[in-house]
Amino acid sequence: MRIIDLYSSSTIKPIISFEFSRPKTEKAAANLNKAFDSLAAANPDYVSVTFGAGGSNREGGFEIVDHLKNQRKLNTVAYIASTGLGPDAVVEVLDRFKSIGIETVFVIRGDAPTWDENYQPHPEAMEYASDLLSFIKKQYDFCLGAAGYPETHSEATNPVKDLEMLKLKVDQGAEYIVAQYFYDNQFFYDYVDKARAKGIKVPIIPGIMPIYTIKMTENLAGLCGTKIVKKVRDGLDQLPKDDKNAVLQFGVDFATEQCRDLIKNGVKGLHFYTMNRSKSVVSILNNLKSEGLL
Ligand SMILES: Cc1cc2nc3c(=O)[nH]c(=O)nc-3n(C[C@H](O)[C@H](O)[C@H](O)COP(=O)(O)OP(=O)(O)OC[C@H]3O[C@@H](n4cnc5c(N)ncnc54)[C@H](O)[C@@H]3O)c2cc1C
Repeated sequence: MRIIDLYSSSTIKPIISFEFSRPKTEKAAANLNKAFDSLAAANPDYVSVTFGAGGSNREGGFEIVDHLKNQRKLNTVAYIASTGLGPDAVVEVLDRFKSIGIETVFVIRGDAPTWDENYQPHPEAMEYASDLLSFIKKQYDFCLGAAGYPETHSEATNPVKDLEMLKLKVDQGAEYIVAQYFYDNQFFYDYVDKARAKGIKVPIIPGIMPIYTIKMTENLAGLCGTKIVKKVRDGLDQLPKDDKNAVLQFGVDFATEQCRDLIKNGVKGLHFYTMNRSKSVVSILNNLKSEGLL
Protein backbone atom coordinates (compact mmCIF):
# COMPACT_ATOMS: atom_id res chain seq x y z
CA MET A 1 0.00 0.00 0.00
CA ARG A 2 1.25 3.44 -0.96
CA ILE A 3 0.48 5.43 2.15
CA ILE A 4 -0.17 8.62 0.21
CA ASP A 5 -3.26 6.89 -1.24
CA LEU A 6 -4.64 6.60 2.30
CA TYR A 7 -3.98 10.25 3.10
CA SER A 8 -5.40 11.32 -0.26
CA SER A 9 -8.63 9.38 0.20
CA SER A 10 -11.75 11.38 0.91
CA THR A 11 -12.45 9.68 4.25
CA ILE A 12 -13.51 12.17 6.92
CA LYS A 13 -12.09 10.17 9.82
CA PRO A 14 -8.33 10.47 10.37
CA ILE A 15 -5.94 7.77 9.20
CA ILE A 16 -4.60 5.98 12.30
CA SER A 17 -1.03 4.68 12.33
CA PHE A 18 1.19 3.07 14.95
CA GLU A 19 4.96 3.25 15.07
CA PHE A 20 7.06 0.39 16.46
CA SER A 21 10.77 -0.14 17.00
CA ARG A 22 12.94 -3.23 16.94
CA PRO A 23 13.05 -4.67 20.49
CA LYS A 24 16.51 -4.97 22.04
CA THR A 25 15.96 -8.00 24.31
CA GLU A 26 14.00 -11.27 24.14
CA LYS A 27 11.67 -10.09 26.90
CA ALA A 28 11.01 -6.90 24.96
CA ALA A 29 10.33 -9.01 21.84
CA ALA A 30 7.71 -11.07 23.70
CA ASN A 31 6.09 -7.86 24.98
CA LEU A 32 6.11 -6.45 21.47
CA ASN A 33 4.14 -9.44 20.23
CA LYS A 34 1.51 -8.77 22.89
CA ALA A 35 1.44 -5.11 21.83
CA PHE A 36 0.95 -6.20 18.19
CA ASP A 37 -2.01 -8.37 19.26
CA SER A 38 -3.76 -5.53 21.09
CA LEU A 39 -2.95 -2.83 18.58
CA ALA A 40 -3.78 -4.92 15.50
CA ALA A 41 -7.22 -5.45 17.10
CA ALA A 42 -7.60 -1.66 17.09
CA ASN A 43 -7.57 -1.82 13.25
CA PRO A 44 -4.89 0.73 12.36
CA ASP A 45 -4.84 1.98 8.78
CA TYR A 46 -1.12 1.27 8.77
CA VAL A 47 1.83 0.48 11.02
CA SER A 48 5.46 1.51 10.71
CA VAL A 49 8.82 0.19 11.86
CA THR A 50 11.73 2.49 12.73
CA PHE A 51 15.31 1.94 11.59
CA GLY A 52 18.25 1.71 13.99
CA ALA A 53 20.65 4.31 12.63
CA GLY A 54 23.49 2.55 14.48
CA GLY A 55 22.91 -0.49 12.28
CA SER A 56 23.12 -3.13 15.06
CA ASN A 57 20.85 -6.14 14.51
CA ARG A 58 19.39 -4.72 11.31
CA GLU A 59 18.19 -8.26 10.57
CA GLY A 60 15.72 -8.02 13.48
CA GLY A 61 14.17 -4.95 11.90
CA PHE A 62 13.59 -6.77 8.60
CA GLU A 63 11.96 -9.65 10.50
CA ILE A 64 9.48 -7.30 12.17
CA VAL A 65 8.65 -5.54 8.91
CA ASP A 66 8.11 -8.95 7.26
CA HIS A 67 6.01 -10.20 10.20
CA LEU A 68 3.71 -7.17 10.20
CA LYS A 69 3.35 -7.09 6.44
CA ASN A 70 3.11 -10.75 5.53
CA GLN A 71 1.88 -12.57 8.61
CA ARG A 72 -0.34 -9.96 10.21
CA LYS A 73 -1.27 -8.59 6.76
CA LEU A 74 -1.04 -4.98 7.94
CA ASN A 75 -0.24 -2.04 5.69
CA THR A 76 3.37 -1.55 6.72
CA VAL A 77 5.83 1.29 6.26
CA ALA A 78 9.55 0.59 6.64
CA TYR A 79 11.97 3.32 7.74
CA ILE A 80 15.50 3.84 6.50
CA ALA A 81 18.12 6.14 8.06
CA SER A 82 21.06 7.40 6.04
CA THR A 83 23.68 8.03 8.70
CA GLY A 84 24.97 4.46 9.17
CA LEU A 85 24.82 3.40 5.53
CA GLY A 86 26.93 3.79 2.42
CA PRO A 87 25.16 3.75 -0.98
CA ASP A 88 25.63 -0.03 -1.45
CA ALA A 89 24.06 -0.77 1.92
CA VAL A 90 21.17 1.61 1.14
CA VAL A 91 20.48 -0.41 -2.01
CA GLU A 92 20.70 -3.67 -0.04
CA VAL A 93 18.17 -2.42 2.54
CA LEU A 94 15.77 -1.10 -0.10
CA ASP A 95 15.98 -4.33 -2.11
CA ARG A 96 15.15 -6.27 1.07
CA PHE A 97 12.12 -4.03 1.67
CA LYS A 98 11.04 -4.56 -1.92
CA SER A 99 11.36 -8.34 -1.62
CA ILE A 100 9.21 -8.23 1.53
CA GLY A 101 6.54 -6.38 -0.47
CA ILE A 102 6.97 -2.93 1.10
CA GLU A 103 5.61 -0.09 -1.01
CA THR A 104 6.21 2.89 1.29
CA VAL A 105 9.54 3.89 2.82
CA PHE A 106 9.97 6.63 5.43
CA VAL A 107 13.29 8.36 4.89
CA ILE A 108 15.29 9.97 7.67
CA ARG A 109 18.85 10.93 8.38
CA GLY A 110 19.03 9.31 11.83
CA ASP A 111 21.22 10.31 14.76
CA ALA A 112 24.34 8.82 16.30
CA PRO A 113 23.19 6.22 18.86
CA THR A 114 23.36 7.80 22.35
CA TRP A 115 24.68 4.56 23.90
CA ASP A 116 27.69 4.28 21.56
CA GLU A 117 30.21 7.02 22.19
CA ASN A 118 32.57 5.62 19.54
CA TYR A 119 29.93 5.70 16.81
CA GLN A 120 31.05 7.19 13.51
CA PRO A 121 28.67 7.84 10.60
CA HIS A 122 29.44 5.75 7.53
CA PRO A 123 32.15 7.66 5.60
CA GLU A 124 30.02 7.57 2.43
CA ALA A 125 26.69 8.17 4.19
CA MET A 126 24.38 10.67 2.54
CA GLU A 127 24.49 13.76 4.69
CA TYR A 128 20.84 14.72 4.84
CA ALA A 129 17.50 12.97 4.45
CA SER A 130 16.92 15.01 1.29
CA ASP A 131 20.03 13.41 -0.29
CA LEU A 132 18.72 9.94 0.51
CA LEU A 133 15.24 10.82 -0.79
CA SER A 134 16.70 11.95 -4.09
CA PHE A 135 18.88 8.81 -4.31
CA ILE A 136 15.85 6.55 -3.73
CA LYS A 137 13.52 8.48 -6.01
CA LYS A 138 15.88 8.05 -8.96
CA GLN A 139 15.98 4.26 -8.74
CA TYR A 140 12.86 2.98 -6.94
CA ASP A 141 9.11 3.32 -7.17
CA PHE A 142 8.42 3.51 -3.40
CA CYS A 143 6.00 6.04 -1.96
CA LEU A 144 8.25 8.16 0.29
CA GLY A 145 7.66 9.95 3.59
CA ALA A 146 9.88 12.23 5.69
CA ALA A 147 10.03 13.84 9.13
CA GLY A 148 9.06 17.39 10.15
CA TYR A 149 9.66 19.36 13.35
CA PRO A 150 6.94 21.70 14.65
CA GLU A 151 9.33 22.99 17.32
CA THR A 152 12.25 23.18 14.83
CA HIS A 153 14.95 20.51 14.53
CA SER A 154 17.61 20.95 17.24
CA GLU A 155 20.45 21.42 14.72
CA ALA A 156 18.65 23.90 12.49
CA THR A 157 20.01 27.43 12.51
CA ASN A 158 16.46 28.82 12.67
CA PRO A 159 12.84 27.80 12.00
CA VAL A 160 12.76 29.42 8.55
CA LYS A 161 15.85 27.50 7.41
CA ASP A 162 14.40 24.27 8.86
CA LEU A 163 11.22 24.78 6.81
CA GLU A 164 13.31 25.37 3.71
CA MET A 165 14.93 21.99 4.38
CA LEU A 166 11.48 20.46 4.74
CA LYS A 167 10.56 21.92 1.36
CA LEU A 168 13.75 20.42 -0.07
CA LYS A 169 12.67 16.97 1.20
CA VAL A 170 9.31 17.38 -0.52
CA ASP A 171 11.01 18.56 -3.72
CA GLN A 172 13.24 15.48 -3.57
CA GLY A 173 10.30 13.09 -3.36
CA ALA A 174 8.65 13.08 0.09
CA GLU A 175 4.91 12.67 -0.49
CA TYR A 176 3.86 13.06 3.13
CA ILE A 177 5.38 14.35 6.37
CA VAL A 178 5.03 12.90 9.86
CA ALA A 179 5.71 15.46 12.57
CA GLN A 180 7.77 15.05 15.69
CA TYR A 181 5.49 14.91 18.74
CA PHE A 182 4.60 18.05 20.70
CA TYR A 183 2.55 18.86 23.80
CA ASP A 184 0.95 22.06 22.52
CA ASN A 185 -1.18 21.69 19.39
CA GLN A 186 -0.61 25.35 18.54
CA PHE A 187 3.03 24.46 17.68
CA PHE A 188 1.67 22.03 15.08
CA TYR A 189 -0.96 24.39 13.65
CA ASP A 190 1.59 27.21 13.28
CA TYR A 191 4.05 24.83 11.63
CA VAL A 192 1.50 23.65 9.10
CA ASP A 193 0.51 27.25 8.31
CA LYS A 194 4.15 28.21 7.74
CA ALA A 195 4.79 25.11 5.63
CA ARG A 196 1.76 25.92 3.45
CA ALA A 197 3.01 29.49 3.08
CA LYS A 198 6.31 28.04 1.81
CA GLY A 199 4.43 26.08 -0.85
CA ILE A 200 4.54 22.68 0.88
CA LYS A 201 1.30 21.02 -0.15
CA VAL A 202 1.75 17.39 1.01
CA PRO A 203 -0.14 15.99 4.03
CA ILE A 204 1.52 16.84 7.36
CA ILE A 205 0.52 14.35 10.03
CA PRO A 206 0.81 15.05 13.76
CA GLY A 207 2.82 12.60 15.86
CA ILE A 208 1.29 11.72 19.22
CA MET A 209 3.44 10.51 22.09
CA PRO A 210 1.33 9.49 25.08
CA ILE A 211 3.11 10.13 28.39
CA TYR A 212 4.13 6.70 29.67
CA THR A 213 6.52 7.51 32.54
CA ILE A 214 7.98 10.74 33.88
CA LYS A 215 11.54 9.57 33.27
CA MET A 216 10.84 8.61 29.65
CA THR A 217 9.01 11.89 29.09
CA GLU A 218 11.98 13.91 30.32
CA ASN A 219 14.61 11.87 28.45
CA LEU A 220 12.74 11.87 25.17
CA ALA A 221 11.84 15.55 25.35
CA GLY A 222 15.56 16.33 25.58
CA LEU A 223 16.44 14.01 22.70
CA CYS A 224 13.58 15.02 20.43
CA GLY A 225 13.51 18.75 21.13
CA THR A 226 9.94 18.66 22.48
CA LYS A 227 9.06 21.28 25.08
CA ILE A 228 7.40 19.93 28.23
CA VAL A 229 4.82 22.70 28.40
CA LYS A 230 3.49 24.12 31.69
CA LYS A 231 0.20 22.25 31.39
CA VAL A 232 2.06 18.92 31.29
CA ARG A 233 4.59 19.89 33.97
CA ASP A 234 1.86 21.13 36.35
CA GLY A 235 -0.36 18.12 35.65
CA LEU A 236 2.46 15.68 36.42
CA ASP A 237 3.52 17.64 39.52
CA GLN A 238 0.04 17.33 40.98
CA LEU A 239 -0.05 13.52 40.78
CA PRO A 240 0.60 11.38 43.86
CA LYS A 241 4.36 10.71 44.07
CA ASP A 242 5.55 7.41 42.51
CA ASP A 243 2.06 6.52 41.29
CA LYS A 244 2.81 4.99 37.87
CA ASN A 245 -0.83 4.33 37.06
CA ALA A 246 -1.72 7.96 37.74
CA VAL A 247 1.01 9.03 35.29
CA LEU A 248 -0.31 6.62 32.64
CA GLN A 249 -3.86 7.88 33.15
CA PHE A 250 -2.70 11.50 32.93
CA GLY A 251 -0.93 10.59 29.68
CA VAL A 252 -4.09 9.00 28.26
CA ASP A 253 -6.27 11.97 29.25
CA PHE A 254 -3.79 14.53 27.92
CA ALA A 255 -3.30 12.73 24.59
CA THR A 256 -7.05 12.20 24.22
CA GLU A 257 -7.56 15.94 24.61
CA GLN A 258 -4.80 16.66 22.09
CA CYS A 259 -6.26 14.22 19.55
CA ARG A 260 -9.81 15.51 20.06
CA ASP A 261 -8.64 19.03 19.22
CA LEU A 262 -6.51 17.87 16.27
CA ILE A 263 -9.44 15.92 14.80
CA LYS A 264 -11.77 18.90 15.22
CA ASN A 265 -9.17 20.94 13.35
CA GLY A 266 -9.31 18.54 10.42
CA VAL A 267 -6.00 16.61 10.57
CA LYS A 268 -5.65 13.89 7.93
CA GLY A 269 -4.19 11.38 10.38
CA LEU A 270 -2.88 10.64 13.85
CA HIS A 271 0.47 8.88 14.09
CA PHE A 272 1.08 7.24 17.48
CA TYR A 273 4.57 6.68 18.84
CA THR A 274 3.71 3.47 20.69
CA MET A 275 7.13 2.84 22.25
CA ASN A 276 6.10 -0.80 21.68
CA ARG A 277 3.33 -0.47 24.29
CA SER A 278 -0.36 -0.83 23.66
CA LYS A 279 -2.55 0.03 26.67
CA SER A 280 -2.38 3.82 26.49
CA VAL A 281 -2.92 4.00 22.73
CA VAL A 282 -5.86 1.57 22.92
CA SER A 283 -7.42 3.65 25.72
CA ILE A 284 -6.96 6.90 23.76
CA LEU A 285 -8.56 5.35 20.67
CA ASN A 286 -11.45 3.97 22.75
CA ASN A 287 -12.03 7.44 24.23
CA LEU A 288 -12.11 9.00 20.76
CA LYS A 289 -14.38 6.24 19.41
CA SER A 290 -16.81 6.68 22.31
CA GLU A 291 -17.12 10.35 21.30
CA GLY A 292 -17.78 9.39 17.66
CA LEU A 293 -14.53 11.03 16.54
CA LEU A 294 -13.10 7.83 15.00
C1 LIG B 1 8.47 10.71 12.52
C2 LIG B 1 9.93 10.49 12.88
C3 LIG B 1 10.47 9.22 12.76
C4 LIG B 1 11.82 8.99 13.07
N1 LIG B 1 12.33 7.72 12.93
C5 LIG B 1 13.63 7.48 13.20
C6 LIG B 1 14.21 6.19 13.00
O1 LIG B 1 13.54 5.24 12.56
N2 LIG B 1 15.52 6.02 13.28
C7 LIG B 1 16.31 7.04 13.72
O2 LIG B 1 17.50 6.83 13.95
N3 LIG B 1 15.80 8.29 13.93
C8 LIG B 1 14.48 8.53 13.67
N4 LIG B 1 13.97 9.79 13.84
C9 LIG B 1 14.84 10.85 14.37
C10 LIG B 1 15.60 11.56 13.24
O3 LIG B 1 16.52 10.69 12.64
C11 LIG B 1 16.34 12.75 13.87
O4 LIG B 1 15.42 13.73 14.26
C12 LIG B 1 17.46 13.34 13.02
O5 LIG B 1 18.21 14.22 13.87
C13 LIG B 1 17.01 14.16 11.83
O6 LIG B 1 16.49 13.38 10.85
P1 LIG B 1 15.83 14.06 9.55
O7 LIG B 1 15.52 12.98 8.62
O8 LIG B 1 14.74 14.96 9.94
O9 LIG B 1 17.10 14.90 9.03
P2 LIG B 1 17.33 16.04 7.92
O10 LIG B 1 16.04 16.29 7.21
O11 LIG B 1 18.47 15.58 7.13
O12 LIG B 1 17.64 17.28 8.81
C14 LIG B 1 18.66 17.25 9.80
C15 LIG B 1 19.11 18.68 10.13
O13 LIG B 1 19.87 19.19 9.04
C16 LIG B 1 19.24 20.35 8.48
N5 LIG B 1 19.34 20.17 7.03
C17 LIG B 1 18.64 19.31 6.26
N6 LIG B 1 19.05 19.38 4.99
C18 LIG B 1 20.05 20.29 4.94
C19 LIG B 1 20.88 20.82 3.91
N7 LIG B 1 20.75 20.37 2.66
N8 LIG B 1 21.78 21.76 4.24
C20 LIG B 1 21.90 22.22 5.50
N9 LIG B 1 21.14 21.76 6.53
C21 LIG B 1 20.23 20.80 6.25
C22 LIG B 1 17.81 20.35 8.98
O14 LIG B 1 17.29 21.67 9.11
C23 LIG B 1 17.97 19.66 10.34
O15 LIG B 1 18.40 20.58 11.31
C24 LIG B 1 12.64 10.06 13.53
C25 LIG B 1 12.06 11.34 13.67
C26 LIG B 1 10.74 11.57 13.35
C27 LIG B 1 10.15 12.94 13.51
